[in-house]
Amino acid sequence: MLLQRGVCGKFVRHTNLMQIQTENYSKIIEETKAAGATLIAVSKTKPVEAIQALYNLGHRDFGENYVQEMVSKQAVLPPDIRWHFIGHLQSNKVKLIAPIVHLIHSVDSTKLLKEINKAAAKTNRVVDVLLQVHIAQEETKFGFDEKELKDTNFKHGFHELKNVNVAGLMGMASFSNNADLVRTEFKTLKKIYDNLSAVEIPNCRLQTLSMGMSGDYKIALEEGSTMIRVGSLLFGAR
Ligand SMILES: *Cc1c(COP(=O)(O)O)cnc(C)c1O
Repeated sequence: MLLQRGVCGKFVRHTNLMQIQTENYSKIIEETKAAGATLIAVSKTKPVEAIQALYNLGHRDFGENYVQEMVSKQAVLPPDIRWHFIGHLQSNKVKLIAPIVHLIHSVDSTKLLKEINKAAAKTNRVVDVLLQVHIAQEETKFGFDEKELKDTNFKHGFHELKNVNVAGLMGMASFSNNADLVRTEFKTLKKIYDNLSAVEIPNCRLQTLSMGMSGDYKIALEEGSTMIRVGSLLFGAR
């Protein structure tokens, strides 16, 4: 907390509430709860003071994109924060977050899944993960495609992965103003999720569908999202 000398010479406590959009937060948390979903506050590139401010309002779920940033923030913030890793994760960095992460949203390859299993075993944990599915039109977004998820060989390998629990799917819609396109992509992901939920797969207990960001979370909630990842609407533009 910053202390600064105010205009009248008194010390004024600079409330770190200034670092967050409290009105947006109240509105979005209400909408999220009404939909029976969970709000992940995406705090990447934002200072620990901003996270602490939202924490002080009772928020506990925070999302980060970069390994080093999550690790250093986790070290100085309250231990009951649930840290969600949502960025592209490199295999050689998995061990750094394995002991502290609550949920990894962005598993985009079998190689990464195996790496997480190995790192989780070393720290005696079962780590919850989501498989990222490529639903957008952009080439750049990571993730499995629907065909890969349907492949029986893919699921076959899962029984060895005793230190991961595949808890659901994550996806990002196209970065577009076309609400119909975005809605169609979320519908596609929901359908893949429902199809996958209907089959028995070892070490998978699907219960989470992570979709929706600042620009499209309302559509995502309407289309069955159970977890939205919202950054700029809560913390301001990056
Ligand atoms: C940055 C990020 C978000 C949040 O984006 P906003 O548009 O700021 O809400 C959500 N999901 C992922 C995967 C991100 O990288």
